[in-house]
Amino acid sequence: MPDLAYLNGEIMPIEAAMIPIEDRGYQFGDGVYEFVASYEGRLFMLEEHLDRLERSMRELAYEPISRTDIKNAVLELFKASGYLRAGIYIQISRGVAPRNHAYTKKMLPQIIMTIRPVKDMPAEIRENGAKAITVEDMRWGRCDTKTIQLLANSMAKQKALDSGCDDAIFITDSGIVREGTSSNLFIVAGGKLATHPLTPNILAGITRMAVLSICKEAGLEATESFFDTNALYAANEVFLTGTVTEILPVVRIDDNIIGDGKVGVITQQVYDLLKKKAMG
Ligand code: PMP
Repeated sequence: MPDLAYLNGEIMPIEAAMIPIEDRGYQFGDGVYEFVASYEGRLFMLEEHLDRLERSMRELAYEPISRTDIKNAVLELFKASGYLRAGIYIQISRGVAPRNHAYTKKMLPQIIMTIRPVKDMPAEIRENGAKAITVEDMRWGRCDTKTIQLLANSMAKQKALDSGCDDAIFITDSGIVREGTSSNLFIVAGGKLATHPLTPNILAGITRMAVLSICKEAGLEATESFFDTNALYAANEVFLTGTVTEILPVVRIDDNIIGDGKVGVITQQVYDLLKKKAMG
């Protein structure tokens, strides 16, 4: 099966999809995106991803695009690929215009998508847990808007890999724990879960939302509250959540072993319940 692209209404091989050099996404990072995954031929939480995409566009004052049109394009691309376990990347930029910081209302948003098989996390990391470093959060103040401006995330992730770890966790200069480079973060302490509240400083992850509802259904106590690096290092379990990440146990952060250094029981329980939900 081919990996495919969608470009303003047309489906084509990825290599054939080209955008003009004056696309504002390319010159100003003036674009928003989503990444949706499918399991066994079903797109998981597509409506929630579309809700967030619409919100991101509203926050940046884009000209509205019909939700039905976007959804139909996603479904068309998914069907054309024939993939059962796929990741669809959706990006919408404000439009194309001669380079100018200011923009006009007349711009036509540019919609691109790609579809590829999802590369599942190596079994070794999933079974033994991941290692992470903490890095100072130097991102802008609107991380709740899912923009394509991911340089700080990308550099933090690379720093983690260069230091032999799997990911980086953003913390503020006063030690408040925000989220991962492409994931939200949960701690488990005394049998209770906690994750950063929804503020402009983190992304409202769809998997985070799924985990909170799984906790409710399973009778696990979960709070949305601030915590710092001391609580992070002292937690019994830590895990990251995301569309690609799913539930990823973290067993070492900086020089600290988390809990007993093994994948925690609650992390495993939440992972199993999420997979069950995704598989329908
Ligand atoms: N935070 C950030 C910074 C992310 O990039 C992502 C991945 N899109 C997430 C959290 C997790 O979001 P989701 O569960 O919707 O994939």
